Amino acid sequence: MSEQPARICILGGGFGGLYTALRLSQLPWEPLQKPEMVLVDQSDRFLFSPFLYELLTGELQTWEIAPPYEELLQNTGVRFCQGAVSGIDIDQRRVHLHDGPEISYDRLVLGLGGETPLDIVPGATSYAYPFRAIADAYRLEERLRLLEESDADKIRVAIVGAGYSGVELACKLADRLGERGRFRLIEVSDQILRTSPDFNREAATKALEARGVFIDLETKVESIAQDSISLEYKNQVDTIPVDLVIWTVGTRVSPVVRNLPVKQNQRGQISTTSTLQVHDHPEIFALGDLADCLDAEGQQVPATAQAAFQQADYAAWNIWASLTNRPLLPFHYQFLGEMMALGIDSATLTGLGVKLEGPLAYVARRLAYLYRLPTLDHKLKVGFNWLARPIIEALSE
Ligand SMILES: Cc1cc2nc3c(=O)[nH]c(=O)nc-3n(C[C@H](O)[C@H](O)[C@H](O)COP(=O)(O)OP(=O)(O)OC[C@H]3O[C@@H](n4cnc5c(N)ncnc54)[C@H](O)[C@@H]3O)c2cc1C
Repeated sequence: MSEQPARICILGGGFGGLYTALRLSQLPWEPLQKPEMVLVDQSDRFLFSPFLYELLTGELQTWEIAPPYEELLQNTGVRFCQGAVSGIDIDQRRVHLHDGPEISYDRLVLGLGGETPLDIVPGATSYAYPFRAIADAYRLEERLRLLEESDADKIRVAIVGAGYSGVELACKLADRLGERGRFRLIEVSDQILRTSPDFNREAATKALEARGVFIDLETKVESIAQDSISLEYKNQVDTIPVDLVIWTVGTRVSPVVRNLPVKQNQRGQISTTSTLQVHDHPEIFALGDLADCLDAEGQQVPATAQAAFQQADYAAWNIWASLTNRPLLPFHYQFLGEMMALGIDSATLTGLGVKLEGPLAYVARRLAYLYRLPTLDHKLKVGFNWLARPIIEALSE
């Protein structure tokens, strides 16, 4: 009697999960050892989130930044299953989906990412717009279009959080709305981009100033209503009229992850070993935003796409090693730098000994991300479109 192949179940098709699946499919499996691989995601598309802003400015289109999994996984041997994970029974090694089949596994990859917490400030759940998923971008686009079509003289936008997302959104939307836009960027700490290299922070400060974005530092959001936001600064609360509030602050893990009986940190992230395995459950690998990982040198791995992407290589390799009786490799995180879009046609980047800002940084960021897009096929399609689009637009003028 032949043995059943092992089943690897990958939950979440983001920077951690999708790239693990793609890498697993490229590893040198013996024909008789080749496992069954299943990728589960609630959405039918992967999202390359660093390009999400470009949907709002029309610089990029959905198919470029969010290709369907079916297309990406063609000819890889990985099966895609669209469904929302509702629970994981780690004793029985089974995954439960909402309205879907149960999936049993021999190896499990947890790559479900995080959520934007809106329920920490009164009114935010009802009135603030989060910016994380493709559906968030569509909802925001709809709101912006309504405001643009209205006869209001000015469009007043408050963006909560002056981290990367807040700063990048402020610059892109200020370019989109032009003279009509009135922007406030609200930040609880005493500076924008607290964790960024100085060069990027200074470039971003200049870009925000050039666009007239007003920055409220050391300011806390007290509450949000339909057409206003209340801000606390030095113990005094001011209520300001606004047309749109965008919330970019915080990441927390989903209840499915928080409810798992495994070691977690205070924020609910799952603690892993440096080989990306969950403590006491070597058959489970966790990576990306939901994992709390110290790498082989003991450095804390940040919750970024860059880190999840690097972890994916190790997770795939270690799963392969664990199924083929080879030693596992500890993860080494390498900080490659930081890039940020600063409006249409401008960006800043610091990394690998290079510091750049302006249009050149914009092109470098585009090319670096093109290189990071999943699958050669998709990179070629998008790259060709970037070359052909200006020519087609010029010919049709
Ligand atoms: C607007 C924006 C811009 C960003 N820009 C950058 C950047 O420039 N550089 C950088 O390094 N990082 C950036 N980040 C952060 C980066 O996107 C995350 O760190 C990265 O995506 C984490 O990867 P992940 O695999 O853990 O999660 P994700 O990429 O978020 O993937 C999680 C996947 O799980 C799926 N999922 C979630 N819950 C369920 C469920 N219950 N059932 C089924 N599927 C589920 C989701 O649909 C999603 O596809 C940005 C984030 C945002 C929101």
